[in-house]
Amino acid sequence: MRHNLNLIEKRPSFVTHLECGYDGDSYPCDTIQGLSKAGKPLLVRYDLHGVKSALTKDILTSRPMDIWRWRELLPVRDEANIVSLGEIATPLIPLPSLAKKYGVKDAGGLLVKDEGRLPTGSFKARGLVMAVSMAKALGIKRIAMPTNGNAGAALAAYCSAAGIETYVFCPDDTPEVNVREIALQGAKTWRVNGFINDCGHIVADGEEAKGWFNLSTLKEPYRIEGKKTMGLELAEQLDWELPDVIFYPTGGGTGLIGMWKAFDELEKIGFIGSKRPKMIAVQATGCAPIVNAFQAGERHAKPIKEAHTAAAGIRVPAAIGDFLILDAVRESKGFAIAVDDEVIFEVRDRIAAADGLLLCPEGAATVAAWELSLERGLIDAQDKAIFFNCATGLKYPMPAASAFIDHHQPIDYDAMG
Ligand SMILES: *Cc1c(COP(=O)(O)O)cnc(C)c1O
Repeated sequence: MRHNLNLIEKRPSFVTHLECGYDGDSYPCDTIQGLSKAGKPLLVRYDLHGVKSALTKDILTSRPMDIWRWRELLPVRDEANIVSLGEIATPLIPLPSLAKKYGVKDAGGLLVKDEGRLPTGSFKARGLVMAVSMAKALGIKRIAMPTNGNAGAALAAYCSAAGIETYVFCPDDTPEVNVREIALQGAKTWRVNGFINDCGHIVADGEEAKGWFNLSTLKEPYRIEGKKTMGLELAEQLDWELPDVIFYPTGGGTGLIGMWKAFDELEKIGFIGSKRPKMIAVQATGCAPIVNAFQAGERHAKPIKEAHTAAAGIRVPAAIGDFLILDAVRESKGFAIAVDDEVIFEVRDRIAAADGLLLCPEGAATVAAWELSLERGLIDAQDKAIFFNCATGLKYPMPAASAFIDHHQPIDYDAMG
């Protein structure tokens, strides 16, 4: 008896089952699962009554500031399976220059959640640490993935840490730094002369041919659970009062879907009330399937042909969780909006120079979308807004800085300005 109790204490997760996000059918957990029978993403369900009696805000406060402080709401049962590289809680950084420009009164009214500080430099670490820890728990030995860069890097790093083999396929226009990072962190890595969906087909065919586990976005249940921690963390950082609007750069939509799920779970365990932020799905005009579907009033998005944007993280022509993204956006009374690449880079450069924060293009897209939403009267400048900067700006091309001094010649200090 005593022995069993100890075991229960060592198994802090309250997962009960998996559920098809489309038709609600239930599936067993603690066994390897991909998509549901309907071919849709599976969502992890918990005994939230159990979580409510086990977890208080005081207990939470006493734990380290990382994503594992939420263990009751996460799927990993045995902590021995956690493959951590240091998944810290990320800070909220104000944008004073933007606030000043638009007359925002509250100094904390415009905040960037800076995810670039996570392992491998992007918030893909949140999703992949969870998926890889679960893969380890379930005995998976070989994983494959199509990626535009950041997901592959996080997969490679965590799988190397877990002793799992990885096969990664990138479209051939993936930035050099991403491809090299993936290879250096131990994945067998290929460039493919096609788009991300072409890479996806190679992985799907290899599932049978090579016995790979397919870790494509939303094709297994646990990446959402990792990304969900963004919503949990945000609520706690804002003292359990959610913001008015969240601008999220939307590719596969894992984070938007995950945060929406997190808010629901937090309400059910009594940590927050019913107030919800408007969820704003931000895309690039060269690849805006969700924006098109939102405007057309549809629940599924039509794939984009010849998708193009330099913001690689949101270059996703077809998202398998499209309906989950669109449902959350609509339920939240939010909207989907697209911004041009030119504007994205103008904003990136402006915020870096004025506020000292180097956003990635996807993060800059969220700020650009805020300005456009304001111009269109969709939001108020005084609404408390959160921008997701999903990766470090250091992984992306930057404008040249070519001023030069020949130190053998007299130096013209006046010319320095
Ligand atoms: C993956 C990624 C996104 C999109 O995230 P999803 O949750 O898949 O929509 C945005 N920005 C960056 C930098 C990314 O790597």
